[in-house]
Amino acid sequence: MATGKSANNILYTFEFQVLTNTLPSVLATISDPALARAELLHRKFCHLSYDYLKILYPNLKIPKGLCEVRLKAKQTCNKFNKSKERQRSTILLENVYTDVDELPVRSIKNDKYFVTFTEESTHFATIFTLKFKHEVFKYYKYYETRMLTAYQRPAILNLYCDNDGEYVSNEFVAYTQSRGTDLHKTIPHTSPQNGIAERMNRTIMDRARACLIQSGLPPIFWSYAVEYAVYVINRSPTKALPNGKTPYEMLTGKVFNCSKLQVFGCVCYARPHLESKLDERSQKCIFLRSTTNGCKVLNLETREIISVQNVRFEPDILYRDLPASEKLETRPVTEEIALKSYQTLKKINITTTTTTTNESTNTHEQSTNINDSAQLSTTSRAMLDANENTNTLSNTTIEQ
Ligand SMILES: [Zn+2]
Repeated sequence: MATGKSANNILYTFEFQVLTNTLPSVLATISDPALARAELLHRKFCHLSYDYLKILYPNLKIPKGLCEVRLKAKQTCNKFNKSKERQRSTILLENVYTDVDELPVRSIKNDKYFVTFTEESTHFATIFTLKFKHEVFKYYKYYETRMLTAYQRPAILNLYCDNDGEYVSNEFVAYTQSRGTDLHKTIPHTSPQNGIAERMNRTIMDRARACLIQSGLPPIFWSYAVEYAVYVINRSPTKALPNGKTPYEMLTGKVFNCSKLQVFGCVCYARPHLESKLDERSQKCIFLRSTTNGCKVLNLETREIISVQNVRFEPDILYRDLPASEKLETRPVTEEIALKSYQTLKKINITTTTTTTNESTNTHEQSTNINDSAQLSTTSRAMLDANENTNTLSNTTIEQ
């Protein structure tokens, strides 16, 4: 089980324990099909409350009782005084809110932080996972360029952040000035303004924690859990927006087809790159997140994280339900598997070895990882993605 505490409102301290099997996949045991459907949707939306699910599915039959996963995942502290908040801007890119969070464990991609940018008029969030805090600057520039280009705006008018080092560097300040952006630095945790960013990050952590608890995936998968959480948050109704609209709808003008959502950490069968016609046609995988034209999965056979297109999902079988022999931790290590794992690990961390020695140097070698499903074209990403068998680098838009 993973529980989170927010001691100082910034650093989320995770207490990870080995998950015991207290949360079996209950879908199979729900005899009422209407309730089973409600539970499945609730999981697909990262344990979104049924009140909001009802907005998307007015006829949904709501189960009685409390959700154990939601209770375990949600933080209980940090009530913001909402009355101090200003009226929401309705002008796209007038106000953007940003905040960085640090996690106690490095992810499977060797990330340690994530940064979010929340656009106020649409409430649309974009997340990037980072190895180093100084990468915030690089990702802000990328976010700005993508948003201005995609939505044909001249500038981000106001950027709200806290006084954290990554935002107050001379480089960052000079850059925002040159772009016509007013940088508003607020005192952390006291400002209702940057409360938008802080609340967003907290919501993301709540949902990501629910994803990990529900699925039983190890904590090192947090980077995929936060990406999946943002994907779902952008497609869920929120009290920040009127009339039950979703951020995705506000930004794109399109209604998201919710039938495309999958359950984080569920079993799926994918067809990876075939080496010969005699290879198995599909392999057992774990769903991690959607991409522009497919999804990212953990291949249980090879332990690789790959991008695939043709996938068959088993939404009510989760990673936690697998026999111990199929899970990552307890898999017996033969020489062959050890070698394969090593090669896989090398692939996953292919760009990290070049950067761990000097945190202050931006080598442009770090693998990048842009979400909500947007991707950055860098050499390293290309290398990484080549290894992940994907070619979805460019021609993506930030809202997909
Ligand atoms: Zn739940």
